[in-house]
Amino acid sequence: MLFNATKSVVMIFGPQPTVVPVFDLGDGGALSVVKEHTYLGFRLSSRGSGMLRPHYEAKAATAQTMRRVIGGVGQMAGTLPVAMLVMLYMALIDPHLVHGCEVVIDEVKVAYEKLEKVHKGFIRKAVGLTKYSLLAVLYTETGLEPLAYRRVLLAVGYLLYVLRSKCRYVRCAVQEAVDLDRRGYPSWASSLRTAVRALEGGGDIDFPDAGELVREGRVIRLEADILRRMDQYLQAKVEGTDRLSLLHGRKEDDGKGGEEVVVRKLRHYLRVYNPGHRKALARVVLSDHRLATRVRRYTGGEEEQKCRFCRGAEESVAHVWLECEGRPELVERREEYVRQVLGVCSEVERERLFELDATPFQQVKYLVGLRGAVAVTAAYAYDVERMVRAIERGGGGSEGEEGDEVELS
Ligand SMILES: [Zn+2]
Repeated sequence: MLFNATKSVVMIFGPQPTVVPVFDLGDGGALSVVKEHTYLGFRLSSRGSGMLRPHYEAKAATAQTMRRVIGGVGQMAGTLPVAMLVMLYMALIDPHLVHGCEVVIDEVKVAYEKLEKVHKGFIRKAVGLTKYSLLAVLYTETGLEPLAYRRVLLAVGYLLYVLRSKCRYVRCAVQEAVDLDRRGYPSWASSLRTAVRALEGGGDIDFPDAGELVREGRVIRLEADILRRMDQYLQAKVEGTDRLSLLHGRKEDDGKGGEEVVVRKLRHYLRVYNPGHRKALARVVLSDHRLATRVRRYTGGEEEQKCRFCRGAEESVAHVWLECEGRPELVERREEYVRQVLGVCSEVERERLFELDATPFQQVKYLVGLRGAVAVTAAYAYDVERMVRAIERGGGGSEGEEGDEVELS
């Protein structure tokens, strides 16, 4: 057998020998001993911090570079629409974040978190949220999948591809991984089981027994289980916190005249054309705004929770948007907003709005869901936010950076 010395290297894993042996293969030449090497696009290391750690680091760095490239386009062309950012994410960033995930199953959280940081950071910025925003909304509002779920789903999809493949060798390799797992040794199959069980909200997903992992029907069921669990988990997160009460019970048109719950989707308010208005409305809807009911939620006493304009009621979205009379500019802007909304909504919608007069929170909830009025609602959200910030700047005290300026790392 001849070795190509320029293409072949030796890596020594585990304790390193004091004297490095010479791997002289005669006619093939001597092989060099290395600590790091790229094989089939995977950067491998024998340094001890994890054989595939450099692969995660390299992919996170490349994805981050792509994130900066997209940011650069935004700086030249103006803020890009969310739909376009989602498309660019899937085309330019996602391929790096999922590269090789079918082979390298995520067992080491520390390595994988680097990829997740790029993933979350990009979506947050696209929507216009700060680092204090809730995580589930990054997916429920854009239609994207959480990265951990996406990587595991791709691995399961790869298993299905192998089981349907005519190639005997790859099927033998999977069978070997399953047999190793059955005998209690670590293998691709045991790693997949660990990764599925480590999914947030997926701890009790019914993972196939060793023998069943090579049955196509059983793997299809596993894939459906993971998808269903992902959506159940995200929906439970949204419905389970009163920070997102504006989203509770939300329904979308099903296209047949009815309504249905859609867990993940690019929502209508993220299609508002004006980026400033869109982000301001997103911050209100997704509870990432500057009002005391969010900023002083856990730290403030009754006094700190009071409205900055009138110093009377609790500073909530419903109060500031619809009730507060502590500032003439705000009252004037509200009157204009109400006129605009009544001008664009239908007779039925108008009646519904009047019915909700006694319950400001329900009225705000109805207003933010009103598709026909979404542009004027977003403009109102922007102006109210501007007034809130003006007082904040005057009174000092800022909790954190805004979504637009949040760190790029
Ligand atoms: Zn007030």
